[in-house]
Amino acid sequence: MTEARSNRKVLVLPGDGIGPEIMGEVMRVAEFCDRRGIARFDLSQGLVGGAAYDASGVPLADATLAEAMAADAVLFGSVGGPKWEGLPFELQPERGLLRLRKEMDLFANLRPAVVFEALADASALKRDLVAGLDLMIVRELTGGIYFGQPRGIETLPDGTRRGVNTEVYTEAEIERVVRAGFDLARKRQRRLCEVDKANVMESGVLWREVARRVHADYPDVELSFMYADNCAMQLVRQPKQFDVIVTSNIFGDILSDCAAMLTGSLGMLPSASLGAPDATGRRRALYEPVHGSAPDIAGKGVANPLASILSFAMMLRYSFDQADAAEMVEGAVRRALAAGARTADIAQSGMTRLVTREMGDAVLRELARAA
Ligand code: NAD
Repeated sequence: MTEARSNRKVLVLPGDGIGPEIMGEVMRVAEFCDRRGIARFDLSQGLVGGAAYDASGVPLADATLAEAMAADAVLFGSVGGPKWEGLPFELQPERGLLRLRKEMDLFANLRPAVVFEALADASALKRDLVAGLDLMIVRELTGGIYFGQPRGIETLPDGTRRGVNTEVYTEAEIERVVRAGFDLARKRQRRLCEVDKANVMESGVLWREVARRVHADYPDVELSFMYADNCAMQLVRQPKQFDVIVTSNIFGDILSDCAAMLTGSLGMLPSASLGAPDATGRRRALYEPVHGSAPDIAGKGVANPLASILSFAMMLRYSFDQADAAEMVEGAVRRALAAGARTADIAQSGMTRLVTREMGDAVLRELARAA
């Protein structure tokens, strides 16, 4: 076991809806790791989203942003809910998360799609296609068509209107996310697939050129290319062919949701968003479940905490280089599922449905066996 270092600053932002409920279970896992000397943190809590708006009139206070910038990692729950839906656009809870991503310059979004053996039947695909699946999509998060200029809806001289968005990437933007993809592949099966539409888009041609150039620094990683439409097809035809996929913002948005359904449940999906490493190798990072604040079940204590617990494991791996501790947490989740632990969202008929706290108990029990 890698020796646990202390004084790693982690800012915890539970947010709204089920956010505080699932984060409660993450904190119990963090306390366990601390008690057993597996991983130590200097944890502080802050407000984000609707909770921050209620307290301070903005979805992310400047002081909280400053704390996030200074932290080694941010653990994020979820934001949003009907209570704040009528607010002006700039004050909506989701703006708090978008501001964090922008200010922290989190350009690489990591979305793993892992199928746990015990849940292989919950996938939209047949068991043999997905059993054992473990792929990672790296989506560029701060550039591309969602931000490119020019954009807008304009009225033409003939009175008809035209909507415009622009796919634009600089070489530097491509290079940093492609490097993140190569670095990840190196820690996995050493295969990277760059996905684009180079057959019809010049920006895709540049993505390929940059990927080929950067490949020279990673001769131990196999690089391949695929068009995005084919990738969508291959993800449902034969998903296990992939190790790491790196792609632009819009293609990553679509393909990662497609890959998510291979795993069966929203309540199981973790994610990480990473910034560029500084001279000391430290990079800003935010870890969060893929799901939202689930207002329909918020306050009932029945939400699945596993996506958040798996996001915590990603933090151990990617921010603190503790792959062994991350595997310990992931292994505890896997064994809890294998032993039949299910919250309502992943339970099949006839199975006992655990509440949030009981699912946390099940993971902690397995952790205690392994530690
Ligand atoms: P959602 O992910 O909150 O919920 C979709 C469905 O999945 C709901 O039926 C919900 O009960 C269920 N679900 C989600 N997470 C679950 C979990 N951990 N355990 C069990 N069931 C779970 O998406 P939505 O309903 O489209 O959005 C609700 C709110 O969340 C909106 O305000 C939206 O803007 C916000 N949102 C926030 C984030 C974020 O914080 N990153 C992401 C997506 C949506």
